[in-house]
Amino acid sequence: MQTIKAAVCHAFNEPLVIEDVQLAPPAAGEVEVTLDAVAICHSDISYASGAWGGFLPAVYGHEAAGIVTAVGSSTDGFKVGDAVVVTLIRACGSCPSCAGGQPTICETPYDTVKGPLKTSKGEPLEQAMACGAFAEKVVVSHRQIVKIPENMPKDVASLLSCGVITGVGAAVNAAGLRAGQDVVVIGAGGVGLNAIQGARIAGARRIVAVDMTEEKLAIAKEFGATHGVLATSKAPWKVAYKALGGRGADAVLITVGAIPAYDQAVRYLGRGGKAVMIGMPHSGDTASYEPVILAALGQGLIGSKMGDVVIQRDIPWMIDLYEQGRLKLDELISGRWSLAQINEAIADTKTGSAKRNVIVFDRG
Ligand SMILES: [Zn+2]
Ligand SMILES: [Zn+2]
Repeated sequence: MQTIKAAVCHAFNEPLVIEDVQLAPPAAGEVEVTLDAVAICHSDISYASGAWGGFLPAVYGHEAAGIVTAVGSSTDGFKVGDAVVVTLIRACGSCPSCAGGQPTICETPYDTVKGPLKTSKGEPLEQAMACGAFAEKVVVSHRQIVKIPENMPKDVASLLSCGVITGVGAAVNAAGLRAGQDVVVIGAGGVGLNAIQGARIAGARRIVAVDMTEEKLAIAKEFGATHGVLATSKAPWKVAYKALGGRGADAVLITVGAIPAYDQAVRYLGRGGKAVMIGMPHSGDTASYEPVILAALGQGLIGSKMGDVVIQRDIPWMIDLYEQGRLKLDELISGRWSLAQINEAIADTKTGSAKRNVIVFDRG
């Protein structure tokens, strides 16, 4: 066991507390990563507000990048000194979902309360989302990490762990967009901007962004949206039809957690279109739709977790796109903060205007 600093949640809706915690050394198949950066995601905020329940105390944080500083046995070629991104996708590699090429829905349970973290008193501490990355170091499965170029800035790389793969993957993998199709993206936040980028990369004909403010629609256009529609319009789907030459979309990507977005999503669809649920509403929230319309028009409604990615395949692809200037990452960062400022960074993210706030660790 070693002692590290982490931001710990002791009570939902209370500020996180920076304190000493204990971290176990990596077991077989695990690596220790000393973090340089961790981005703040709305999922961290939902957990910290109690939206999805879970054990307390807990350490959240799951969009990280750093350097491998220790390895257990059988870690598949990873070695001390490797620059990596850390994801929450702790896939076993051998269950039917993993073996079938869908590691984001791995069926093998992992007990996050019995993970490598303990409080300074040696009591249980949840390693939330199998990461616990609001901390100086993490111990995770080697299947959760992917090597990145040594010279890639870690704050930029950390975005690849969740928001970017979820958005781009939803467009390319989950919606299976092909060149020439029309897309509506609901929400132009951290995931939505990446869904827009994914649609652009997939060769979409028209990409309509839907959000609450003109400011966010303007940002959406910088990321590739061809049209913007205010969600506050009386019937925003009708405005979208106009942008799409009078027809509905081939795919609607719902990247927010607000229920009205789910209730309305199918209205934007054309014949044969698919609505992809990507955002994470709070547990217990429900949406409604008219099944007869989906049946009559041959439409689909699907969920997508983490962009249905295979990180070992998709993250190197996205790094190449970034280096070729085809995927914007730097522009997604709206602020850099220290671990001590984490509650301020979370408050700023909650205002909804921030793209991604990133905690940068001072290793000096
Ligand atoms: Zn996330
Ligand atoms: Zn599995």
